[in-house]
Amino acid sequence: MLVDTHGRVATDLRVSLTDKCNLRCTYCMPEEGLKWLAKPDLLSDDEVVRLVRIAVTRLGVRDVRFTGGEPLLRPGLVGIVQRCAALTPRPRMSLTTNGIGLGRTAGALKAAGLDRVNVSLDTLRRDVFTTLTRRDRLQDVLDGLAAAREAGLTPVKVNTVLMPGLNDDEAPELLAWAVENGYELRFIEQMPLDAQHGWTRDGMITAQDILRSLGTRFGLTAESGEQRGSAPAERWIVDGGPHRVGVIASVTRPFCSACDRTRLTADGQIRDCLFAREETDLRTALRADASDETIAARWKRAMWGKKAGSGLDDPLFLQPDRPMSAIGG
Ligand code: SAM
Ligand code: SF4
Repeated sequence: MLVDTHGRVATDLRVSLTDKCNLRCTYCMPEEGLKWLAKPDLLSDDEVVRLVRIAVTRLGVRDVRFTGGEPLLRPGLVGIVQRCAALTPRPRMSLTTNGIGLGRTAGALKAAGLDRVNVSLDTLRRDVFTTLTRRDRLQDVLDGLAAAREAGLTPVKVNTVLMPGLNDDEAPELLAWAVENGYELRFIEQMPLDAQHGWTRDGMITAQDILRSLGTRFGLTAESGEQRGSAPAERWIVDGGPHRVGVIASVTRPFCSACDRTRLTADGQIRDCLFAREETDLRTALRADASDETIAARWKRAMWGKKAGSGLDDPLFLQPDRPMSAIGG
């Protein structure tokens, strides 16, 4: 198993399938100038499936989430999902996506064995969407969400980041819309993972701000602690139920002590944390015909030294060199 010195066990694998994206969310990517990973450095579909197989059959991984960049831009996505669904034990599989193109692929992904999706959407206002993502694609995202729900990729979760002066007044409106459409909304505090290194603690909307804003329109009751488990979202029951809303307070109430994640980048590096500044290379071993056993042992060593926390509160905190789009959120 993927155990670390603090006794945590990683059973949840995040696989980044590409660092490319068709949006340019301001908290993630610059408008232009970001250097893409070189094509030969990207893992092939076979290499991705082999690493997922090693994780599932030898390392105790039970959940696999495909992400990026934008994972729907990966041509082999449906095939990768299908091959991972054939593994024994079969992992639970989900996708984090901006939703663009999901209208066309949701049915095929479900048929291939995908269980769920998380779609990122920060605003329902077209002009704000265009400012925030630098692309006029709101309707594509809404269509993708509806297609995911119709295909049965449920529960469909919606991830929202609030930015001061842009969409921070929209929390109640977003929750009312999510409740009406049967989506589970989760707000995520903005983290220092933008390529431009522009994040400041004072400039972010906190979980407390979000709850205060939602409280102006909804009655929220906290779910009990046991229901949270290792899930990063703290959830609230909306107006007595059955709907829930989640808040992921990655900065102000980090959940590092219960973290069960291990991450694989699109170029075959293992990261033990979103905020890690070091990575372990599996691609070289893969391409040098290393055995499954050798690769699994390398992966275990990579996770063993995982730090107790993200280090965000440390005055000497240094943002990772890779932006969120290249780590895999
Ligand atoms: N492109 C896909 C998407 O947007 O869902 C998958 C990759 S994206 C990096 C994964 C998630 O990370 C999205 O929900 C996005 O909102 C979130 N994210 C990106 N940058 C972030 C930041 N600086 N702080 C908090 N969340 C961030
Ligand atoms: Fe693309 Fe997702 Fe980053 Fe937005 S958050 S730029 S959709 S990778």
